[in-house]
Amino acid sequence: MSSFSPSIEKLIESFEKLPSIGHKTATRLAFHMLNLSKEETEEFIHSIEDARNKLKYCSICYNIADSDPCMICANPKRDSSIICVVEDVKDIIAMERTHEYKGVYHVLHGTISPMNGIGPEDIKIKELLNRIHEGNIKEIILATNPRVEGEATAMYLSKLIKPFGVKVTRIAHGIPVGGDLEYTDEITLLKALEGRREI
Ligand SMILES: [Zn+2]
Repeated sequence: MSSFSPSIEKLIESFEKLPSIGHKTATRLAFHMLNLSKEETEEFIHSIEDARNKLKYCSICYNIADSDPCMICANPKRDSSIICVVEDVKDIIAMERTHEYKGVYHVLHGTISPMNGIGPEDIKIKELLNRIHEGNIKEIILATNPRVEGEATAMYLSKLIKPFGVKVTRIAHGIPVGGDLEYTDEITLLKALEGRREI
């Protein structure tokens, strides 16, 4: 039996649904929230609602953005002839941390995974090919994660893109096999980007 009121229990449960939050931390966060002023609570709720309501995808690269096109696609200083293909929006954040990459991105929103019933048509491959088809693309950097699905997706994309006469590169294996771009430090990621090879 819980010693807290049902409403507090509900709040703790909500926090427990967040990634890497255990029961103890959830309880601490719930009580912290209850100690906030009414204004602070409203501001917190509003910021979540606001982010949720404004959430949209960039119609060019499928990054999550407040505006369409996203800030990266809309930036004239970025080189739109180089596209770095990533699995997830979080991988863009990882790549941006290197402060070196000046091209643009394409978010696949997943990888081809026959085991999980995810085929090429379930991720943003058609959209990538449309961008290449429109022309002015010099290089496609395949930066999917070095896992089985990431590698298979990179090979699949390479075969599809090559007939367009566009240079296709794969980031080097500075990233541990089975690792995540998201959790790779900037220096390793930068080395992987610099050491990319044509495939
Ligand atoms: Zn974009």
